Amino acid sequence: MATIHAPELLIVMGGAATTDEIEHVVARLEEAGAQAHVTPGRQATVIGAIGERELIASLPLETYPGVEQVLPILKPYKLVSREISPDPTVIEVRGRRIGDGYFGFVAGPCTVENRDQTLVTARVVAEAGCTMLRGGAFKPRTSPYTFQGLGEEALVILREAREETGLPVVTELMDPRHVEAVLDAADVIQIGARNMQNFMLLAEVGRADKPVLLKRGPSASVEELLMAAEYVAREGNERIVLCERGIKTFERTTRYTLDLGSVAVLKHETHLPVIVDPSHAAGRRDLVLPLARAAAAVGADGIIVESHPAPEEALCDGPQQIPTAEFGEFAREVREVAELLGRQIG
Ligand code: PEP
Ligand code: MN
Repeated sequence: MATIHAPELLIVMGGAATTDEIEHVVARLEEAGAQAHVTPGRQATVIGAIGERELIASLPLETYPGVEQVLPILKPYKLVSREISPDPTVIEVRGRRIGDGYFGFVAGPCTVENRDQTLVTARVVAEAGCTMLRGGAFKPRTSPYTFQGLGEEALVILREAREETGLPVVTELMDPRHVEAVLDAADVIQIGARNMQNFMLLAEVGRADKPVLLKRGPSASVEELLMAAEYVAREGNERIVLCERGIKTFERTTRYTLDLGSVAVLKHETHLPVIVDPSHAAGRRDLVLPLARAAAAVGADGIIVESHPAPEEALCDGPQQIPTAEFGEFAREVREVAELLGRQIG
């Protein structure tokens, strides 16, 4: 099996470095049998040198024209780290944006239950000026005896909702066998909390040509989340949005404990956008707005929330879904806070 290398060194090109000087460094690395991962930035271009450390270290990189600094990457995550890409990544889908000042506002039903429920919700979400529509087709349920999602039938409904509203669709992929069908219907592929460390699935979406929404596992550390993102990025797909959705603690008044500290840490460690799911974290709708506000204030690049026309009849997660009748007001409040913080709904 081939040895898999991560970038070992960062070559920081000075602000005045020319294209020729950058290409020269890349060519020298390649001649030496290494690879170069070039990230142009506002201040400087950063080149990640991928290959065997000793081999790369044997090159007199510091002496090449235009090179400002050569630094080792000490963190276990490489491609997703801020070191390699100091500028924030913006994920753009069908003209909608998340990251770097664009606040992604993703909303929709927990689960696609039927055509009517989904289309009604999609219209309300679009009317409220949201960024994307969410909706589960394949549902990861704790009990095998509960509704597991409509599967492919739901994908047809989501496609219709997208056509009607123009909103990009976010839906979860649970099984590599569904990758083609889900890719066909989804604009953004969600990897759910329970699959955060399903490494085969991560590699699969790493090879896909669609952005990935990667949710933090309820028992996963921030570093494990970043390493999961690294699995996706390593396959070539660096269009990743991370999502904090609450972790397991001893606390029982909320469904999970929303770890807002992790958002601040992630914003420091990675160039990827980070969003927050206050719906699954809280498990109750009265807490969704305060937690959404807190998410914006801590520096999150967006939120993902659930809404349903009749939450009391919902097949999944009823208590946390915002009734569509109240969604417009909810969205106004979210927009107000986002704008107050200098963010624009993407
Ligand atoms: C979801 O967003 O549909 C979901 C199931 O959330 P999580 O994976 O965070 O539990
Ligand atoms: Mn849900």
